[in-house]
Amino acid sequence: MLILGGTREARELAHIATGERGFEIVSSLAGRVRAPLLPEGAVRIGGFGGAEGLRDWVADKGIEAVVDATHPFAAAISANAAVALRDSGIPLVHLRRPSWSPQTGDRWVRVRDLAAAVRVVSTLGERVFLTIGRQGVSAFAGQDGQWFLIRAIDPPEGPLPPNREILLARGPFAVEGESRLLVEYRIDVVVTKDSGGDQTHAKLAAARAAGIPVVVIERPPLPDGAVIVETVAQAWDWLREARGGIRLAEHRVGATRSTVEKLR
Ligand code: NAP
Repeated sequence: MLILGGTREARELAHIATGERGFEIVSSLAGRVRAPLLPEGAVRIGGFGGAEGLRDWVADKGIEAVVDATHPFAAAISANAAVALRDSGIPLVHLRRPSWSPQTGDRWVRVRDLAAAVRVVSTLGERVFLTIGRQGVSAFAGQDGQWFLIRAIDPPEGPLPPNREILLARGPFAVEGESRLLVEYRIDVVVTKDSGGDQTHAKLAAARAAGIPVVVIERPPLPDGAVIVETVAQAWDWLREARGGIRLAEHRVGATRSTVEKLR
């Protein structure tokens, strides 16, 4: 069974499944982060070479079920998984933690994508806390009328906004620390992806308490017809069911073989 990873949920699922009887798990990472947090058990790192590469890899390794537990914004790999496994008979589930919901006092501006975030952020303040991770920062490179505090695990690559400070840090973050950052850097507006989960949501509480607007970039859609679960527990149930289905199929194949042998 293959877990497409790069998230805490993927690591938790690998932790649960590794060592369980009847489960042979391999986790896959893209290899973006220099020092990734590795899941337990077998791990492979690097792209597959598109949907076709993934299809071949899955066939070559005899993979029988796939959990796409990648980040909600990792749209390409999720789409590739759907294409690769279509008509293969190999079950695929997407594990997607729920989106964040605004609470009383939040001043959210929801936007569809990065480009819309760039357009709207210039109307909301001069000093921006950009917490969208490393990828996508270049979209703000032309914003020379604003100052950016850019936080990411590894340094962003490519063109960057000219007025900036880069803060390398990995969550989880606490509300007190996030509130301190907002004050220390005199932040007017926060930009975030709707990543969901509790690792990085402290910035939302800090912005709410400070009355600061937050530009929230909406998630890209999952492929049509995707089977989706929201929690690690649900993904684990799904895997066990998939395993049951595989056992049943093996049994049927076995029965057919012995029937054929008898007939001979
Ligand atoms: P992406 O845009 O969906 O994927 C781009 C390419 O990276 C894919 O086509 C695939 O290459 C490779 N790839 C992505 N995830 C992979 C995986 N788990 N195993 C093997 N190859 C993978 O993905 P992304 O947004 O760059 O994210 C890359 C990884 O970082 C994901 O695993 C994701 O879970 C994690 N992550 C992403 C974000 C985010 O904001 N995007 C945040 C936190 C963690 P091939 O076509 O060559 O197979």
